[in-house]
Amino acid sequence: MTYKKQTTLAHGGHHQGYHEEATGAVNTPIYLSSTFHQKQLNEMGPYDYTRSGNPTRTQLEKTIASLENGTDGFAFSSGMAAISSAFMLLHSNDHIVISKDVYGGTFRCVTQLLSQFSISHTFVDMTDIDEVARAIQSNTRVIYMETPANPLLQITDIRAIVALAKENNCYTYLDNTFMTPLHQQPLDLGVDIVLHSATKFLSGHSDIVAGLAVTKDNRLAEKLSFVQNTYGAVLSVQDCYQLLQGMKTLEPRFNKSTRSAQQIAEHLSNHTSIENIYYPGLASHPGADVHASQSTSPGAVLSFELKKGIDVQQFANHVSLPVIAVSLGAVESILSYPATMSHAAMPVEEREARGISDRLFRLSVGIEDVEDLLNDLENALNQSTAVKL
Ligand SMILES: *Cc1c(COP(=O)(O)O)cnc(C)c1O
Repeated sequence: MTYKKQTTLAHGGHHQGYHEEATGAVNTPIYLSSTFHQKQLNEMGPYDYTRSGNPTRTQLEKTIASLENGTDGFAFSSGMAAISSAFMLLHSNDHIVISKDVYGGTFRCVTQLLSQFSISHTFVDMTDIDEVARAIQSNTRVIYMETPANPLLQITDIRAIVALAKENNCYTYLDNTFMTPLHQQPLDLGVDIVLHSATKFLSGHSDIVAGLAVTKDNRLAEKLSFVQNTYGAVLSVQDCYQLLQGMKTLEPRFNKSTRSAQQIAEHLSNHTSIENIYYPGLASHPGADVHASQSTSPGAVLSFELKKGIDVQQFANHVSLPVIAVSLGAVESILSYPATMSHAAMPVEEREARGISDRLFRLSVGIEDVEDLLNDLENALNQSTAVKL
């Protein structure tokens, strides 16, 4: 019998109700053991040393592989460790075509770390297929996507980029953090490696930092396994357990947050204090149709720009439910301020040119009651407008 993803998730990645053979424990045990006794000197057992493999991690890796419809999953100590490790499949003189709206840490990895090893890159507007095509060189090995992107939720046409990559013998990597495998399955669309910051929706509780990678290409899987063991940025065993526990409730968390995000986006889109709103669930979003063709949810993250004259600090002071912080994808709503958080390193003119003004906020909607959230935002908008008038 095949089950829906949520059913498998609720059972900790096991297809039947899980219980551990020896004791009947319903949760995957935390195998806190760096080394494993070997019975045969001439033949190692399934596990020998936890950097190379651990039963708790195996359960997590199998779960994410099956969720992404892949064959092999890999757990890393952070999203950045997963992304950097995937880039370690490249060689010097290789070239990457990458979205200019990529996550800040990925930007840093490509511009400041890979450049040290003569791996070059071209930033492109991934929503412009012609621009992507023009950026491909004879030594381009990877086209790197992130969709929806941050913080303006730009949408990349995954199928179109995959087709372009295949014509040019490049691999495609995709950061699937915002959608999770519940709502976007890039491997099914031909992407070669899917990457996650599992710090966000997958774990869902603003507690652990974790990363995941999945592929269904045997050669890439072998290489990723080699890098994971050699570079050694593996997820700790306790955090593997914590992530498995968080993932059990991914579907109800994500979908509740998404329903609320849709309501909040609709409310704000008609609001006199809001200049612009960015959310793929609104028909006005330029990527709404492409997004709907490759994903089954608009997601739980939206961004909005306050009208000129509204005091952003006053607004932030009067918001009481969302925490004001970096990160996203948690049970509590998180309000971020890209100008001084994710995009602080970007020169002001460049930031403004990209539509990331200092009146822009990003909201990751949590699982609070949506009326409470709406009232809280409404109150903060009224208070900060009144101050100015
Ligand atoms: C947070 C994030 C990352 C980095 O993940 P860490 O777990 O913080 O290392 C990468 N991509 C996206 C889209 C993110 O939001």
